[in-house]
Amino acid sequence: MKIKFALIAAMIVTLILCSCSQPEEYSMDIFAMDTYMSLMAYGRNSEKALEEAAEEIEKTEELLSVTRPDSEISQLNENGFLENPSDDMLYLVKTGVELNGEVDGAFDITLYPVIQAWGFTTESKNIPTEETLVGLLSDTGVARVHFENGITLDDNTKVDLGGIAKGYAGKKAADILKQYGITSALLNMGGNIQTIGAKPDGSSWKIGIKDPQNESSLVGSVEIIDKAVVTSGGYERFFIGDDGKRYHHIIDPKTGKPAENGIISATVIGDDGTLCDALSTSLYIMGTEKASEYLNAHSETNAILVTEDRTLYITRGIEPVFKPLNEYINTTINVIG
Ligand code: ADP
Ligand code: MG
Repeated sequence: MKIKFALIAAMIVTLILCSCSQPEEYSMDIFAMDTYMSLMAYGRNSEKALEEAAEEIEKTEELLSVTRPDSEISQLNENGFLENPSDDMLYLVKTGVELNGEVDGAFDITLYPVIQAWGFTTESKNIPTEETLVGLLSDTGVARVHFENGITLDDNTKVDLGGIAKGYAGKKAADILKQYGITSALLNMGGNIQTIGAKPDGSSWKIGIKDPQNESSLVGSVEIIDKAVVTSGGYERFFIGDDGKRYHHIIDPKTGKPAENGIISATVIGDDGTLCDALSTSLYIMGTEKASEYLNAHSETNAILVTEDRTLYITRGIEPVFKPLNEYINTTINVIG
């Protein structure tokens, strides 16, 4: 009898110990979409799920890379049409076109010829002349993209989905993880963060927002659960021109030049990583005044803007979970939205 009790007691202790032990955890570093990515998932099947999620990111890159001649986007740009676009391509081009109207033209997927003229997708970056830019801009605008018989582009029009691609890849990867039953994951895709659920202990993920003027410092942090956090900044990809000035890769469709409208970093936090990505690029381009106006009119969008005079603009919805850090601890925070 005593032995039986001892055995049952031992079994209960073992069971309790098992349920308290650390959850299964798997992490993976990859280089894709021109960025180092660090993927982490918790729970059963996390290894297999992450491997498949990484494959999905690579597949999205294969589809959307303008520098790969065999990608679907290159086919579209080269031929001027895609009779049978994939669902991904149709969704992204349509979303890009629709968003253009939402953000008063700031987000424009037809800027690719302008981006090429700056050499941003190549090794030879240079400053195009005013004349070149004016000429190229006359063949841009989303009205030149049509959706009869698949996707058709007007002459000289080419599209680039670089402002939305990483957000979409993050969303697709998260969908795969969810299919595997993963309820806790953090995908860090260089400026794009996609989370699933909360941390394994149930607490929020704490995401750092980089200081655009100091690589090794943070402006602050946000605590989130099951959201995407996407930052656009001119400090990530740029070149120094012959004139000694810095030129970054986020182009103002009005001028064809790198946007310089007062914002040096725009972060958007939300459920849909694709939308967050497009909006962070858009707010960056819109600049302080227009971006504040947009956020005041769209209380559903949550954002953190850093301006060149080191002022912070934070939407009402994000204020309770935002914590300023380092040099920004004593900065005035303007709450908008
Ligand atoms: P990153 O890709 O570095 O995270 P963004 O999401 O802000 O940064 O996207 C910048 C990319 O978007 C550029 O490299 C270019 O491919 C594309 N792009 C540049 N200007 C625009 C624009 N006005 N509208 C849409 N896409 C743009
Ligand atoms: Mg973007």
